[in-house]
Amino acid sequence: MNSLLSLQDISYSYHSLKEETPALSNISFEVSEGEFLAIVGPSGCGKSTLLSIIAGLLTPEQGSLFYKGKSLACCGPENTVKIGYMLQHDHLFEWRTIYQNVILGLELNHTLNGENRNYVIKLLQDYELYSFKDKKPSELSGGMRQRAALIRTMAIHPNLLLLDEPFSALDSQTRLNVSADIAQIIRQTNMTAILITHDLAEAVTLADRVLVLSKRPACIKCEMPIHFDLDRHDPMMIRNTPEYQLYFNQLWEVLTNEQSVFQST
Ligand code: ADP
Repeated sequence: MNSLLSLQDISYSYHSLKEETPALSNISFEVSEGEFLAIVGPSGCGKSTLLSIIAGLLTPEQGSLFYKGKSLACCGPENTVKIGYMLQHDHLFEWRTIYQNVILGLELNHTLNGENRNYVIKLLQDYELYSFKDKKPSELSGGMRQRAALIRTMAIHPNLLLLDEPFSALDSQTRLNVSADIAQIIRQTNMTAILITHDLAEAVTLADRVLVLSKRPACIKCEMPIHFDLDRHDPMMIRNTPEYQLYFNQLWEVLTNEQSVFQST
C-alpha cells in the first residue's frame, strides 16, 4: 500500500517559565492509504500531543512530517491535507438539528453545494440516521450522536481521520457496539484513520496495526500488525478468537512492562 503519512524523528516538549515537559521523543512511523492505525499508551504519555502535531495544531521541535512524500514543514498539514478530527465529546450543537449539525463543516468551508448535500443525505441514509435528521442531538442515543459526529467529519471528504478517544464518553456496552460500527464505516469508505485510545482491547479489535507508546516522553515501544480471518463487524466474536488473545497478551506485556520492547515479525 502507498504511504500517506510519514513521521520521522518527531520530538516535542512543552515549555513554561518554570520548566520543560518533554512529551514526545524520536517518534517515527508511516501510515498507508486506507489503513486503520491505533496508538495506545499510558495516560499522559503524549498521545494527544502526537495527534495535535499530525493535525498541524502544534509544530514539532525536531523531526519532519511528510504527506504523500511531500514535506509539510513549509505550509503545515492544514494547508495540504484535509484532516477530520473526532474527539471524545461529539460537540453537536443542541440548537441545530442533526442535519444542520452534519453540514456544519461544509458551511464553514463554504463548500455546501448540491453534490455535498446529496453525499450527506446518503451518509445519513447509509448509517441509519436519515429519519432522525430533523431531531435535536438530545433526542438521540449516545451511539447515534457519535455516528452523527462521524458523518459531520466525513462530509468534508477528509484525507485523514484523527480519532482522539472518541468512544470514552460512552458506557462500556454502547462503546463496544459503537466503536465496531464506526470502524466498519471507516473501512467501507476506505478512509485512512489514526485512533488514539488507552483501551488495548479496543485497539486490537478495531485496527489494522497497533503502535504502543512508552510513558512520557513517549517513544515507540512496539508496532504490531493485526489480522483476523473473521469480518470485524461483531466485536464479541473477534474477542473470542485465539488470535485476539495472542495479540492482546503480547501487547499487554509491552504496555505494562517498562523494560519490554516487542519486535513483531
Ligand atoms: P495523553 O494524550 O497521552 O494523555 P498528552 O499528550 O495530553 O497525553 O500530554 C502529554 C504530557 O504533556 C502530559 O504529561 C501533560 O501533562 C503534558 N501537557 C499536555 N499539554 C500541556 C501543556 N499545554 N503545557 C504543559 N504540559 C502539557
